[in-house]
Amino acid sequence: MSMNLVTLLYLVASVCFIQALKGLSHPTTSIRGNLFGMAGMAIAVLTTAALIVELASDKGVGMTYVLAGLVVGGGAGSVMAQRVEMTKMPELVAFMHSMIGLAAVFIAVAAVAEPWAFQIVAHGQPIPLGNRLELFLGAAIGAITFSGSVIAFGKLSGKYKFRLFQGAPVVFKGQHLLNLVLGLATVGLGLVFMLTERWDAFFAMLALAFVMGVLIIIPIGGADMPVVVSMLNSYSGWAAAGIGFSLNNSMLIIAGSLVGSSGAILSYIMCKAMNRSFFNVILGGFGGDAAAAAAGGAVQRTAKSGSADDAAFILSQAETVVIVPGYGLAVARAQHAVKELAQKLTDKGITVKYAIHPVAGRMPGHMNVLLAEAEVPYDQVFEMEDINGEFGQADVAIVLGANDVVNPAALHKGSPIYGMPILEAYKAKTVIVNKRSMAAGYAGLDNELFYMDKTMMVFGDAKKVVEDIGKAVE
Ligand code: NDP
Repeated sequence: MSMNLVTLLYLVASVCFIQALKGLSHPTTSIRGNLFGMAGMAIAVLTTAALIVELASDKGVGMTYVLAGLVVGGGAGSVMAQRVEMTKMPELVAFMHSMIGLAAVFIAVAAVAEPWAFQIVAHGQPIPLGNRLELFLGAAIGAITFSGSVIAFGKLSGKYKFRLFQGAPVVFKGQHLLNLVLGLATVGLGLVFMLTERWDAFFAMLALAFVMGVLIIIPIGGADMPVVVSMLNSYSGWAAAGIGFSLNNSMLIIAGSLVGSSGAILSYIMCKAMNRSFFNVILGGFGGDAAAAAAGGAVQRTAKSGSADDAAFILSQAETVVIVPGYGLAVARAQHAVKELAQKLTDKGITVKYAIHPVAGRMPGHMNVLLAEAEVPYDQVFEMEDINGEFGQADVAIVLGANDVVNPAALHKGSPIYGMPILEAYKAKTVIVNKRSMAAGYAGLDNELFYMDKTMMVFGDAKKVVEDIGKAVE
């Protein structure tokens, strides 16, 4: 296989990746974007596999390793992707990031051990300074990404008893100072490795980077996890790009940079959506005070509740209805029932719109994906900044399994979520809220929307309640 052909195929794959990102920026083009991504990845993986076999000194062994990697990795990936529920996607993404980080570490270790096998230098020659810098950066970022993603995975799954995997932030005195010292020590050891090519400095640097990954993520709690996941996404991209420079692999550099920059942009957009600074998120501690306040300072208040029939009656009288989907809707898999309800209301001449908060659910774009799955018409779906001005004129806002994203506590100074933009459902003439209990949302805060005079709670699983409302509307 000539290097020109490899470069050409990598170029085609890179164009596919850019088209994929472009396509994924809108629901109407997202399927096309996914297809481009799949095609680009297939070209990149097969070209690289062919290249490895060609470069392998023993072609038979090289082929066996490549095939084993493709079968085991590809098989595991497809089984996991088929089995994963939509609400568990962030965990899967965190797991994938941890694998990318670990892969970067393994490649860096192998390249430091036998640089000639990667064609970095001729046999017995020292690794050039520039390559040592790339290997140090790739390995350090990869190690931080790996251990940080493992903690993020544990926190997102909420299944494990281990303290570091709990949603609440883990904070202790001197934490930031410790992180600073560890950060400086990691850089220092990296410099020692760069200047001397010493193995012990390289491994000590890696060990500190693994510890730092844990320490960076443990103080970040609950509501900030979306930013963490996209930040780790960005890290995994930069780690891959760093290693790509060492291996002189343009595909890794381009794909890594695309992942790194898109993850960084997504983190920025999410911070903006929560009105938090990036450093405020990284310095952590958010969510613990909230949970404590919710647990300790809870005042007994009563909320008005009604039945699905009551909700159907209110909806039937309305001219304009805004549906606010949230995490609970995804848990209940009620998207098809919601679409049917909306159709019945539309048939009665009622205007129905969906309001999407950028961090509703458990991953960016979660609600868009959910509604797209039920084939909700795109022209009924509105982003927060486009719909917020309309709540004041809406007769009914029906909140389905959403909590934090409609919590007016965000408007009050002193609240842990102060400044986070919310969907202004509280401005609608009547508010119907469906959830199973009065339990708090992801940020652990009570929600005053539930206690307002104009609000009616309809308790129960979202799918059952929405189906019952639909039947009653009919
Ligand atoms: P929340 O997690 O704040 O609230 C969801 C509500 O749904 C809960 O209060 C729960 O109440 C209810 N619920 C759960 N299951 C059901 C069910 N089967 N039927 C009906 N209701 C149900 O969700 P939001 O979407 O409002 O907010 C998302 C939160 O998650 C934000 O804090 C965000 O920062 C965070 N986050 C977002 C991510 C993202 O990228 N989008 C990733 C990770 C976190 P009850 O138990 O009483 O039923």
